[in-house]
Amino acid sequence: MIDPFGREITYLRISVTDRCDFRCKYCMSENMTFLPKKDVLSLEELEQIAAAFVRKGVRKLRITGGEPLVRKGIMELFRSLGLYLKSGELDELTLTTNGSQLAKYADELYDAGVRRLNVSLDTLDPYRFQDITRWGNFEKVMKGIEAAQKAGLKIKINTVAMKGFNDTEFDALIRWCGEKGMDITFIETMPMGEIDGLRSDQYLPLSEVKQQLNETWTLAPSTYRTGGPSDYFDCAETGGRVGFITPLSHNFCESCNRVRLTCTGMLYMCLGQEDNADLKKVLRGPGGYAALDTAIDAAIGRKPKGHDFVINRQTDGQPAVPRHMNVTGG
Ligand code: SAM
Ligand code: SF4
Repeated sequence: MIDPFGREITYLRISVTDRCDFRCKYCMSENMTFLPKKDVLSLEELEQIAAAFVRKGVRKLRITGGEPLVRKGIMELFRSLGLYLKSGELDELTLTTNGSQLAKYADELYDAGVRRLNVSLDTLDPYRFQDITRWGNFEKVMKGIEAAQKAGLKIKINTVAMKGFNDTEFDALIRWCGEKGMDITFIETMPMGEIDGLRSDQYLPLSEVKQQLNETWTLAPSTYRTGGPSDYFDCAETGGRVGFITPLSHNFCESCNRVRLTCTGMLYMCLGQEDNADLKKVLRGPGGYAALDTAIDAAIGRKPKGHDFVINRQTDGQPAVPRHMNVTGG
């Protein structure tokens, strides 16, 4: 699949639920209305759409959400998608998780073929953790990370950099990740969905963070690539990698290789744009797999050049896109 700007689409991210056991302040408001269950694709339907993308050349799948591991029966989906790894049709099956359910599922994920995963963690301070996640349990996440490592899963930590919240903790997070053999990626806050509070109060350009980190750490540009938007640096002191995802201060759309499926079967060709394709309607319609393939081709043919996220005081009232991050997944 090649889009109108010559980019090959080889990566599909699937949000399997919009629900979550946390209420991170930058992601959701405290009182969220979730989708009625009837609107959500069944696990079989998610698998059918994923299979269509694999047929069309997708080599990497990431399961996300909401919190993917709170979806009932989710291991069935991992097991069925894992078969494409065994057949050689897929290079990687991975997930992004808040870590709360990892102690329960780490071994099963490994058995399904998952080898790497991203865990989102913004602070090492249990009180701050409670504050930012509202409903999270720090101990449970720590136990989850431990269990995942024990199961043989390689972890990358994702940290949203927030002014006045965790900006004094970046060194400690890098040190901690280094000690545990985990890479870390810092992410800028993106203006997605209405939240309680102003985004410009939180927004911290990662160019500033990088400058600050250069005072403590020797960060050399890394040749490591994951096919993602992260710019990696090798950290001489820890031996680990430090990545930066900068959707606002530096646009990375030129190399975008991905599209995103929501749990209701809407395909978004860009995280920061509203255009989408309703694959649920096609899947449940009379056209079968051929119609699904045609609908996917048409959608890829409309993939936009890029997003135009901006955060400033003028735009604070209106998020760049009305969808919350839990709809399309991070
Ligand atoms: N629940 C899982 C988790 O937290 O890892 C997966 C879904 S979550 C939406 C995926 C990622 O998006 C997380 O790393 C989270 O920190 C990030 N995220 C959520 N809202 C964001 C926002 N407005 N700006 C930047 N990153 C955001
Ligand atoms: Fe849930 Fe992840 Fe959003 Fe936090 S960032 S509320 S863990 S979906």
